[in-house]
Amino acid sequence: MRIARFSTGAEPRFGVIGERDGTPVLAVLTGDPLYAGIELTGASEPLADVRLLAPLIPRSKVVGVGRNYADHAAELGNEPPVEPLLFLKPNTAVIGPGEPIVHPEQTDDLHWEAELAVVIGRICREVPPEQVPDVVLGYTVANDVTARDLQASDDQWTRAKGFDSFCPLGPWIETDLDVSDLRVTTVLRSDGSEELRQDGRTSQLVFDVPTLVAYVSGVMTLLPGDVILTGTPAGVGRMRPGDEVTVAVEGIGSLTNPVVGA
Ligand code: MG
Repeated sequence: MRIARFSTGAEPRFGVIGERDGTPVLAVLTGDPLYAGIELTGASEPLADVRLLAPLIPRSKVVGVGRNYADHAAELGNEPPVEPLLFLKPNTAVIGPGEPIVHPEQTDDLHWEAELAVVIGRICREVPPEQVPDVVLGYTVANDVTARDLQASDDQWTRAKGFDSFCPLGPWIETDLDVSDLRVTTVLRSDGSEELRQDGRTSQLVFDVPTLVAYVSGVMTLLPGDVILTGTPAGVGRMRPGDEVTVAVEGIGSLTNPVVGA
């Protein structure tokens, strides 16, 4: 099942992707599925007529995991960590499909990071790895936008990872997916050309999804709608105002955002 959050001009609503007479539609839900469950109103909207929003706004936190692909750790001159390396992104960084990534004036090296994102469905703590599927609602695609120069100059990553618009999420939450070996890509469109810049697989994760969720839940209570970003493969690089970046995870979909000046 694919759960989307969308707008047709008024308040955001939630829907499940389906089909009517061969046309993709959103079957409208009565409320936020994280809190109200999956209950259909009976109404539907053609998918082509709605604006997709970030599939959720995390109520409490987005947990990032650094250097979780060995080839990405190596490209920045780092060793893969011996334990998951955690950081937080504020929920105010979240934007949806098509919304602009705003290039802050404080950085000269703004990077994309395509990532598989885990959406937590239940309040939980100290979850054993084998019980992680019970607490995961589903998966979406994230761009862990990072000011690489600020990441290097600051001991903590809060500023480098935390600007408004630094956490595009979307296009929807896929609830039925084996995430053990999915392709993760970034395509950059810049100056009229288009180039594949990241091309990894989740099978290359240093710490897999059950290990990460178990580890994070051993540190902090996870709430419905919390998001865990699982790390990015090699191929990060610079985005500039005027560029457009598409991150994608096989089996979920793709997420495109323009980059604009501050
Ligand atoms: Mg990252």
